[in-house]
Amino acid sequence: MGIRTGQEYLDSIKVRNKVEIYVMGKEVKDVTTNPFLKPAVLAFKATFDSAWDEDTKDLARVWSPFINEEVNRFNHIHRSPEDLAAKVKLLRKISHKVGACFQRCVGYDALNTLYIITELMAQHGKTEPKEKFIEYLKTVQKKDLALAGAMTDAKGVRTLKPHEQPNKNAYVRITEVTKDGIYVSGAKANITGVAAAEEIVALPTRAMGPEDQDYAVSFSIPTDTEGIKIIVGRQLNDARRLEGGEIDALPYFYNHEGLVIFDNVFVPMERVFLMRDWQYTSQLVEIFSAYHRQGYGGCKAGLGDVIIGATYNLAKQIGVEKASHVQDKINEEIFLTETMYAAGIAASLNGIEVCPGCWWVNPMQANVTKHLVTRFPSQIAQLAIDIAGGILGTAPSEWDLKNPKIKELLAKYLQGVEGYTAEDRIRMIRLLENVALGVAFQIESVHGAGSPAAQRIMFSRLYNLSYAEEVAKRLAGMKSNVKFTKKVEPWKESETEKLAKESEKNTVTASGGK
Ligand code: SF4
Repeated sequence: MGIRTGQEYLDSIKVRNKVEIYVMGKEVKDVTTNPFLKPAVLAFKATFDSAWDEDTKDLARVWSPFINEEVNRFNHIHRSPEDLAAKVKLLRKISHKVGACFQRCVGYDALNTLYIITELMAQHGKTEPKEKFIEYLKTVQKKDLALAGAMTDAKGVRTLKPHEQPNKNAYVRITEVTKDGIYVSGAKANITGVAAAEEIVALPTRAMGPEDQDYAVSFSIPTDTEGIKIIVGRQLNDARRLEGGEIDALPYFYNHEGLVIFDNVFVPMERVFLMRDWQYTSQLVEIFSAYHRQGYGGCKAGLGDVIIGATYNLAKQIGVEKASHVQDKINEEIFLTETMYAAGIAASLNGIEVCPGCWWVNPMQANVTKHLVTRFPSQIAQLAIDIAGGILGTAPSEWDLKNPKIKELLAKYLQGVEGYTAEDRIRMIRLLENVALGVAFQIESVHGAGSPAAQRIMFSRLYNLSYAEEVAKRLAGMKSNVKFTKKVEPWKESETEKLAKESEKNTVTASGGK
């Protein structure tokens, strides 16, 4: 099957019997019709539609050598730098269609992370995880499954390691191992798109030591499994989705995040990819976070485009689009948006083949991409607020527009330039409000794929400060040990590259140096 339609996806998540999903304290049985979750389901569905829409299908369909069929790119393993760039481009395009986070990329990045890490484990002599993962990958690709990646644990006391926590389940852990599988308990927090996904792929959230081995676990599990409870979080303006209107909650696509509780959940052994393999956790976290940080260069640039369009239209509605300060602010929005995108594309085209067929993003540039995204969306939103005017915070509701006693008055006093109506103004104001100030553009941009400090740690790990210092000392006429090589950038190897090099050495030694 390889590629499903959006409708086929909707049909597959309609009936759930075992998982418990809660929204605002009430259990939800059908996420496709629940007014709170439906907008998030429709945003997720857009990733399936992208494989059928004329303007995106060339980007969204890709050949899989694993099943010898075309698959949806969201379940694809990157085979080249061009593949990595296609991901960023597709994300930018889908943002134009939904104006929100469409949630499926976390599972996409989890698949690619497990592909690399199980390959590196195999090169270090542990072949079983790779064999299990490839079988799982084939199933995901054949059935075109909707995956949610689940990495962030509840974490409890942040200064304590997993095994030191007073709550032993603050990080998801293995509580029992049988010959058929493992039992896990604990909770994953802020899990994007989880109630709309068919499968959860769990990954460890941090580097771990031997004493944390029960927490070094990665597995996949159908969302509709006994013992899984999902508690969906609230977002700004979310109650507007329950009002039954058609303007105030524009664009009527949202993402959702959930707290996922695993209450003694059984995972069959064929779905367990890391079991107490603490030695690979630091590389796993590094690989996953870089993949997701690269992706932000696409989806957040796409949201930037929506905001630029809304800003420009609102300026036109009140006749100020040619004012030099307005043009200047829109140009600044364009610059900020294109810078995020350029960084994501650079991180892709400068990707690294860490093992044969394992294409990873450029770790430095992926971290730079995400760090730009922690800052630029709030600046873009600030410029949009400036141009839109105070009405962004004071506009009447669509219900006022529809009230026969006042609608004529609003039509008269909210209209600006002839050709645009009061309703046009309110529609664009609501779109701008919900996209520019919503969770996907503001909060997710800061904390998704790791908070700003996490990228700064990576800068200091990856940048070769000593080399730069020696370069400067030489130019200053001081004694310098600088050794120029063909390598241009003063970058150090990541943990993943080091592990991959060790594997190469092992292979060479094992084959007698051939
Ligand atoms: Fe995809 Fe962006 Fe949402 Fe992450 S934040 S899941 S990259 S759309």
